Amino acid sequence: MFPVRCFTCGAVIGDKWEEYISRVSQGEPPGKVLDEMGIRRYCCRRMFLSHVDVSDELVKFASMAKLKMAPP
Ligand SMILES: [Zn+2]
Repeated sequence: MFPVRCFTCGAVIGDKWEEYISRVSQGEPPGKVLDEMGIRRYCCRRMFLSHVDVSDELVKFASMAKLKMAPP
């Protein structure tokens, strides 16, 4: 789903995705999360930011799963 390497510069970014998406889903600004993880090249940041739509879907799905699992 998320590419292991940046298409442009080849930096390994796949192992950063889990942390990125968990922090963003908790309300942190994506730009700040990328800064703090050391993703400074614009080509690599674009890889994360261009997947925001997918992450929104995952957050919705996770919320739905939680609702289903919650006791009545
Ligand atoms: Zn890059």
